[in-house]
Amino acid sequence: MIKAITRIYGNFIHLLVESERDKLTGLFNRCTFEVRLKRLLVKQAELITDQKADDQKVVVERRAESHGQQAWLVMLDIDHFKKVNDDFGHVYGDEVLLIFSQVMRDVFRKKDLQFRFGGEEFVVILEPIPLEHAKSALERFRLSIEQYEFPQVGHISVSIGFAKITQQDYPLEVLNFADKALYYAKENGRNQVHNYHELVQQGRINHVEHAVGDIELF
Ligand code: GH3
Ligand code: MG
Ligand code: MG
Repeated sequence: MIKAITRIYGNFIHLLVESERDKLTGLFNRCTFEVRLKRLLVKQAELITDQKADDQKVVVERRAESHGQQAWLVMLDIDHFKKVNDDFGHVYGDEVLLIFSQVMRDVFRKKDLQFRFGGEEFVVILEPIPLEHAKSALERFRLSIEQYEFPQVGHISVSIGFAKITQQDYPLEVLNFADKALYYAKENGRNQVHNYHELVQQGRINHVEHAVGDIELF
């Protein structure tokens, strides 16, 4: 009886874990993203209130940010992937996706949550590190992809946009910011990494608050 229950429970857990993963790459799928992002925001908020040397939550949050403690949301999209499929067929396209996800695992840390968001779009949540570290990690990934010799296909590239994850009114807005930075990379030659807040500061894109509309989840 106990054995049977354990087996049923084991199968149940297996199914739960399976349903969170993308079949081809084994990365987390898009459905789990929102839950995980919200979980992370709750954890961040707890950290902030824990450090209550100061009475005002906002003051403490600003201080955490000035120490570069925020996590980052990264959107990655393979450049001209349609051409890979057109030139070599879907099987080689799939292999590129698989290798791409393996390079992600190699370059990013275990703590960084990695998702396959859709066809050739990926998302990473980078653990809290300073902006410069985030930039160099992403630049390292961009280079690893640029230099990789994919079987038959040869060389490809990836465009990357990222934004900091703060305690915003609407958590999914950060997705929109990262997407805007990614779009900027695509429009300006591809194979590059851009940070949303820097682009805004430099006046290269306009900051739009509460502009969640563009992103379709699920
Ligand atoms: P861009 O540089 O602007 O991103 O161009 P792109 O060609 O990468 O983007 P586009 O969105 O036009 O094409 C994405 C292609 O990805 C189209 C689709 O055939 C392919 N794709 C989506 N999912 C899969 C998949 O699971 N396997 C394979 N092999 N191809 C896929
Ligand atoms: Mg795409
Ligand atoms: Mg693409």
